[in-house]
Amino acid sequence: MSVVPGSVRAEVVTRAGNRCEYCRLPARGQVATFPIDHVNPRTAGGSDDPSNLALACPSCNGHKWAFTDGADPASGEPVRLFNPRSDIWEEHPGWSSVSPGQLVATTAIGRGTIERLRMNDSDLIVLRRLLAEDGLFPEIT
Ligand SMILES: [Zn+2]
Repeated sequence: MSVVPGSVRAEVVTRAGNRCEYCRLPARGQVATFPIDHVNPRTAGGSDDPSNLALACPSCNGHKWAFTDGADPASGEPVRLFNPRSDIWEEHPGWSSVSPGQLVATTAIGRGTIERLRMNDSDLIVLRRLLAEDGLFPEIT
């Protein structure tokens, strides 16, 4: 496990708005401390520089592990994962208006990332809905 200096962690947390930069789960109210993800994994030469770091919830971080790619479930083709440092979140995953709390994607990168990080596991959808009911997840409309 990588240990990022406290000052760097604070910078990453603030930049992320204290929420997962992959699925947008807020850290507030969660029991576990959100880990710092290396967007480009250290095993692939990724650095500890803030430009390579992202706040990730334990679920996204655990499923991302050292992966940088996945497969688009619509085509089966390989696709790189969403990069919180260079991609715009709203352009890849978004919220379903049909099933609140569920993520949908309009791009191959978004679909591949949702699949690889298992962002739509049923427990996560329920958690997002409960947080939204308490006003802790205002993105869901
Ligand atoms: Zn997440």
